[in-house]
Amino acid sequence: MPRVQKRPEMPIIRRKCYSCSKMATKPYVYHIVPSYSYGAQIPVYSKSDPKTKRVDLRGNRKVLVYHYCNRECYENRKPPEPYET
Ligand SMILES: [Zn+2]
Repeated sequence: MPRVQKRPEMPIIRRKCYSCSKMATKPYVYHIVPSYSYGAQIPVYSKSDPKTKRVDLRGNRKVLVYHYCNRECYENRKPPEPYET
């Protein structure tokens, strides 16, 4: 009886590089997670409020995700600062 070779399924994640627009299979992912600044109005938790997923947040609460081939590409084109005006 032949031995069955077990191959773990490795899903290939392909993401377009923000810097060079190549498809990166092992992307370097950069997340920009906005944080509440000191003194900012933090919404009061209420049981009746519909729950909002973090990624569904809009505006300045939106989590931004940038994909790069590697760190080098990140250095070449850094994501824009969301708070600079
Ligand atoms: Zn790249």
